[in-house]
Amino acid sequence: MLENLTQRLGRVMKTMRGEARMTEANIGDALREVRMALLEADVSLPVVKDFVAQVKEKALGEDVVGSLTPGQAFVGVVHEQLKQLMGEAQVPLALNQQPPAIILMAGLQGAGKTTTVGKLARWLKQHQKKKVMVVSCDVYRPAAIDQLKHVAEQVGASFFPSSPDQKPLDIAAAAVDWARKHHEEVLIVDTAGRLAIDQAMMDEIKALHAQLDPIETLFVVDAMLGQDAVNTAKAFNETLPLTGVVLTKLDGDARGGAALSVRAVTGKPIKFVGVAEKLDGLEPFYPDRMASRILGMGDILSLVEAASQQVDMDQAAAMAQKIKSGKGFDLNDFRAQVAQMRQMGGMSALMDKLPAKFAEAAANMPAGSDEKMAKRIQGIIDSMTPDERSKPELIKASRKRRIATGAGVQVQEVNRLLNQFEQTQKMMKQFGSMFKGKGGMMKMM
Ligand code: GDP
Repeated sequence: MLENLTQRLGRVMKTMRGEARMTEANIGDALREVRMALLEADVSLPVVKDFVAQVKEKALGEDVVGSLTPGQAFVGVVHEQLKQLMGEAQVPLALNQQPPAIILMAGLQGAGKTTTVGKLARWLKQHQKKKVMVVSCDVYRPAAIDQLKHVAEQVGASFFPSSPDQKPLDIAAAAVDWARKHHEEVLIVDTAGRLAIDQAMMDEIKALHAQLDPIETLFVVDAMLGQDAVNTAKAFNETLPLTGVVLTKLDGDARGGAALSVRAVTGKPIKFVGVAEKLDGLEPFYPDRMASRILGMGDILSLVEAASQQVDMDQAAAMAQKIKSGKGFDLNDFRAQVAQMRQMGGMSALMDKLPAKFAEAAANMPAGSDEKMAKRIQGIIDSMTPDERSKPELIKASRKRRIATGAGVQVQEVNRLLNQFEQTQKMMKQFGSMFKGKGGMMKMM
C-alpha cells in the first residue's frame, strides 16, 4: 500500500542527511512529497492539508534526539501523524449488553456486506467464543438470503431463515425473538444494499435501526472506491448513527486513501478490514500497524523508538559528567536513577542494552531490580532530610533509626540501601570515564 509515499519519503530522507535540525527549509521538500503522495493515494484535499500542517508543526517543534538524522526523525513524525489520522488505537466491538448483542450491517450493493457478516460471525466465534446467529433482511435481491445461508453454514453460525415475501421489519422482530429464546449471544443483521444511496433504502434501514436498537451499526464499504467510499460513509453517518466502519477489499486497494481518511471525515473508527475474499479474511484494524505498513520502514521506526530510550542514556551521561566535574553522586541522584530504571523496565531490560563487561558489573548492583524494591528505596530516601540526601556520610545510627521509622522499614533495610548506594557510586565513577562527551556510550555500544 501507498508505495509512492514510501518511495517519496525514502528519497527525501537521503537529501536531509547530515543536517543537524529539522528546519522550515529542509522539511519543505519532504512536506511537498508527503502532500503529493497522499493526493495520489486519493485522500481528500482538506484532510491532506490538515495532515501536512500538523506534520509541519510537530516536526519544527521537535528536537532531533540522540543519533537520529533529521530525515529519520521526520519519518517518526509522519508515522505518529498517520496513526493519529486513523484513530490512534484499535476500537473493539462493544458487545457487552444483555444478549443478544445486535449488530446491524449497512452498505451499498457489492460492498462485501454479506461476506463480511460471515467473516464477522466466524471471527466472533473464534476469538470471542460467542454463539452467533445471522439473519438477512434483504428481500429485494433474489439470491441474497441463500447467499447468507451458505456463508452461515461455512462458518458454523446459526442461520435464521427469511423469505422475499416478508417485510424486513417483521423478519428482524422474529429473529430477535428467536435469538433471545435460544440464548444466541450475538445477532448479526444483514440488510439490503442499493447501487447508490436512495431515500427508500435509507428510510428502511432507519426503521430497522429504530426497531432493533443495535449496540453496533457497522457501515461496510469497499476500500477500492477511495474518496467515493469515504463520501458514502459520510452520507450514511448523517442519517444513521454508525458506530464503526468495516473497510473491505483492502487486499485489492493499491492506494489506501479510504483507510487514511474515513476516520477523519466521518469521525467513526474503522473497526475491521477485509483482507481476502475467503471467510477468514477479516482483521481488527490497528492504526499503528497500518501506519507502519504504509510507511514500510520498520527499521527506521524502531530506530526512532530506540532513540527515545537514548534520551535516558543522555541523562545518564549528564549524571556521569557531574561526577567527573567534582560534584559527587549523592542520594538524590541515586533516587533519580532508581526511578529512571523503573521507567526503563527494570534492571534486566537495562542489562540487555549494556555491553557484556558492564552488564556483569551491573549485576552486582541490585538496586531497583524490581518494582517493589524500587518503591522501597524511594520511600526510604524520601524520609531523609535534604542534608542527609546530599551528604549521606551524615547518616549515623540515630538518623538511621529515624529514617527507618519514617519509611516504615527495619534499620537493616536502611543499611542495605546505603551499601547499595556506595556500590553504585563507585560504579558511576567507572561509568563516568566511559562517557567521553555526549553520545560516547552509544558509540561504544
Ligand atoms: P454485498 O452485496 O455487499 O453483500 O457484497 P458481497 O458480500 O456479495 O461481496 C461482493 C464481492 O466482494 C464478492 O465477490 C466477495 O467475495 C468480494 N469481497 C468481499 N469482501 C472482500 C475482501 O475483503 N477482499 C476481496 N478480495 N474480496 C471481497
